[in-house]
Amino acid sequence: MIPRPFEYHVPRSLPEAIALLGEHGDAAKLLAGGHSLLPMMKLRFAEPGHLIDLGKLTELKGIRETDGEIRIGAMTTENELIWSELLQSRCPLLVEAARQISDPQVRYRGTLGGDISHGDPGNDHPALMLALDASFVLLGAQGERVVPADGFFLGTYLTLLEAGEIMTEIRIPTPAAGTGYCYAKLKRKTGDFATAAAAVTLRMSGGAVSAVRIALTNVAQTAVRATDAEQALLGKPLDEAAIDEAARLAMGACDPVEDLRGDVEYKTAMAGEMTRRALATAYARAAH
Ligand SMILES: Cc1cc2nc3c(=O)[nH]c(=O)nc-3n(C[C@H](O)[C@H](O)[C@H](O)COP(=O)(O)OP(=O)(O)OC[C@H]3O[C@@H](n4cnc5c(N)ncnc54)[C@H](O)[C@@H]3O)c2cc1C
Repeated sequence: MIPRPFEYHVPRSLPEAIALLGEHGDAAKLLAGGHSLLPMMKLRFAEPGHLIDLGKLTELKGIRETDGEIRIGAMTTENELIWSELLQSRCPLLVEAARQISDPQVRYRGTLGGDISHGDPGNDHPALMLALDASFVLLGAQGERVVPADGFFLGTYLTLLEAGEIMTEIRIPTPAAGTGYCYAKLKRKTGDFATAAAAVTLRMSGGAVSAVRIALTNVAQTAVRATDAEQALLGKPLDEAAIDEAARLAMGACDPVEDLRGDVEYKTAMAGEMTRRALATAYARAAH
């Protein structure tokens, strides 16, 4: 199918983009990499009368570290995440995960901001943002607000973003040196979304877990944190029994829907297995 006709706008500045959003209201959609929006338009699940392309807004690009945070422009692509020496050394979890997203074509165009804003529980960045304790900068006509990733994802394709707002930046507290990390993703083939995936960040101190965050992809209406599993691990050594128990508790956070990737039982079991693998790898990578 081809999309319905629409008017195409290319703002040259953020204020111009915000003004266009205000002018066209619900009839407008922002266009980033287009790798989620354009397929939806072709299927006529989305029928915007106005497309506002963010592609010329160079202020939405770039990766830098400031005030103990890594700040990433929303229009930064998956490949730019992968190629970033700053992320490779300071936040390798994001690099490891971006490498597992779709295929090279999608990674050249798809953006971090688009992946998060889309609110698709099958997308990988939402769970990564929860595991990294990120926050998002949202700009609207009334000004800017900064919201934590925890609480941003409200349901499938539903986030805290208001009509008229643009996500401009993603902020990630720079992980402390020695933080263990892993993104374990099960997918059927290159280019597929996760059947289930787990993002883990982990710190060890004196032989015990001193900090841990676990978040899961594509096993509920939104990306979810496995908080019961996190609580069970804190303050204890990370032996095999602890990992098994955390995997069991993570399965309790799952509420997947059956589809071609598997039934509810299988997806839940795979979320447990991905949690187990991600914890074991994060432990091996953490400073002890
Ligand atoms: C074959 C295929 C396989 C894929 N596999 C995966 C995968 O395994 N994992 C994964 O994570 N993703 C996957 N994707 C999705 C891909 O990563 C998309 O690029 C991503 O979901 C959306 O980013 P985008 O820049 O393309 O956004 P767009 O498609 O342009 O926009 C998506 C939505 O977000 C809104 N939006 C975009 N930018 C902003 C912003 N800055 N502020 C506010 N709203 C904004 C748009 O209005 C739109 O509603 C796949 C896509 C394809 C086509």
